[in-house]
Amino acid sequence: VFIAFEGGEGAGKTTQARLAAIWLRDHGYDVITTQEPGATKIGMRLRAMLLDRDTTGLSDRAETLLYAADRADHVANVVRPAMERGGIVVSDRYIDSSLAYQGFGREQPVEDIARVNAWATGGLVPDLTVLLEIPPHAGLRRLSAPADRMESEPREFHERVHAGFRALAEADPGRYLVLDASRPQSELSREIQYRIREILPD
Ligand code: C5P
Ligand code: MG
Repeated sequence: VFIAFEGGEGAGKTTQARLAAIWLRDHGYDVITTQEPGATKIGMRLRAMLLDRDTTGLSDRAETLLYAADRADHVANVVRPAMERGGIVVSDRYIDSSLAYQGFGREQPVEDIARVNAWATGGLVPDLTVLLEIPPHAGLRRLSAPADRMESEPREFHERVHAGFRALAEADPGRYLVLDASRPQSELSREIQYRIREILPD
């Protein structure tokens, strides 16, 4: 079972992914929590390159490929091995982040990014994608540690990313749980638990 958490800056993905994993462990499941970019040794180097894009002038296409390389390594070395031993994988971000940020945000062709990522991951699609929706201005306001983030991007960039996530969820409603991230944390985690229950093996 593979569950991804997606959404813009400050949506609470990391928090909700952690709460979901704790709940699953309490119910006796073997769970690993992981994140993109930067879950593997190579991934950590790629993450540093990606977050440094403004000072290095990293091109948009190269950025897309580095995210895909990070994801390929993540899937091969973390996600698939855990799934093969019967574990539940909970990931903070996955392919939809590339479609939303590099596709909608940087206005690169979404179909091309989807194709590159399908190849990078060997076609691995989450069983459930939880989209935590928050208007960009509210999400950016919530961020406490600006160091590692891209809130230097213009407001319009984050608006495109936000609209992109919504469009992705609307195009494939069966795979998504879309939640208003401004709701209380405990309500959100309860709704996430209900939905996860539906996809768990008995
Ligand atoms: O989720 P996390 O805060 O670790 O993401 C780090 C940064 O990378 C964020 O600023 C996010 O906007 C950016 N990012 C991106 N494209 C992706 C994934 C993350 O620009 N595909
Ligand atoms: Mg986070």
